[in-house]
Amino acid sequence: MTRPSHIQVNLQALRNNYQWACELAPQSKTMAIIKADAYGHGAVACARALDDLAPAYGVACIEEALQLRQAGINKPILLLEGIFTDDEIATAAEQDLWMMVEDPWQVDAIVNAKLQQPVQVWTKMDTGMHRLGLAPFRLPELLAKLQASPNVCNGIVMASHFACADELSNDFTRQQIALFHSHLPSPDMPFSLANSAAIMAWPESHGHWNRAGFMLYGNTPLDAEHDSNLGLTPVMSLNSSVISLRQVAVGEAVGYGQLWKAQRPSIIATVAMGYADGYPRHASTGTPVLINGQRAPIIGRVSMDMITIDVTDLSGVCLGSPVCFWGHDLNANEVASHIGTIGYELITRMGQRLPKIYV
Ligand SMILES: *Cc1c(COP(=O)(O)O)cnc(C)c1O
Repeated sequence: MTRPSHIQVNLQALRNNYQWACELAPQSKTMAIIKADAYGHGAVACARALDDLAPAYGVACIEEALQLRQAGINKPILLLEGIFTDDEIATAAEQDLWMMVEDPWQVDAIVNAKLQQPVQVWTKMDTGMHRLGLAPFRLPELLAKLQASPNVCNGIVMASHFACADELSNDFTRQQIALFHSHLPSPDMPFSLANSAAIMAWPESHGHWNRAGFMLYGNTPLDAEHDSNLGLTPVMSLNSSVISLRQVAVGEAVGYGQLWKAQRPSIIATVAMGYADGYPRHASTGTPVLINGQRAPIIGRVSMDMITIDVTDLSGVCLGSPVCFWGHDLNANEVASHIGTIGYELITRMGQRLPKIYV
């Protein structure tokens, strides 16, 4: 009496991946990035699973941070994009939320705020991503303002973010590191550069703090083979099962728009998973899934609640056969490459409809 579709989340794999991030950068503290509901895995459950390991968390906005506070998570939480409106500053100070400062208006807002206690600030330097961050030539002035303010705790951390750290043969990461250090106000100022890709592939970027996101969820962000990929285990499996099976004769079509037509007598399995669950509608014929652990292609158009799969070449498929759309034995990155996106988007976009089962 239950729709068989669900997201399975392996919290032991999450812990192992976190520990791998720490092993790759033993001199650094590793912040666990759990923005966007922990990349679709459930932020509260993931924070609880990491609470004895991670010294701090990172999220995208204060709403995400307060959700964690309400669930009893007491570690520092960094707002990676800082504040969006200045009324957030007092709440952040009260709730021990750390604030990234990435635009000059945020400096003025913090300095001018009426606070009961000071707030912990990170400043972001724009070293070439050109999305957020303070321009290097304005840093001395803006930093001096923050350091002179009673609203700001001592020990400001200087951060930056990489544009191309996932591309192993792209030299831009080295250029960003060099620019960063040439503008770091003092060599002993605590700093933070590395995201997952840089933790894994650019050890020269490791700082006092690293910021591990995607890698915690067990897929590699890197664009090529690398030894550091070997320590990762996928945390999410997207699962369902076969709800109908039928034979289709040569020339007959399957699904909306009759997009796919049988070239041979075929056996089609219908599975309870669709775009309303978050599986991308533009996944086309040929995108792989696992049925009973064997690979088979999606055929025809993804519907709101269902997907059709050509199982003609498989044996043993029956009603109730388990189907995995990505997970341990079928990497989300590989599936994403068929769909014209990246694993980050696939795991993060899964909506609220599917129940999550934590193991
Ligand atoms: C999301 C984010 C990260 C984590 O990036 P991953 O590639 O997922 O490791 C790190 N730093 C900032 C500022 C971010 O916004």
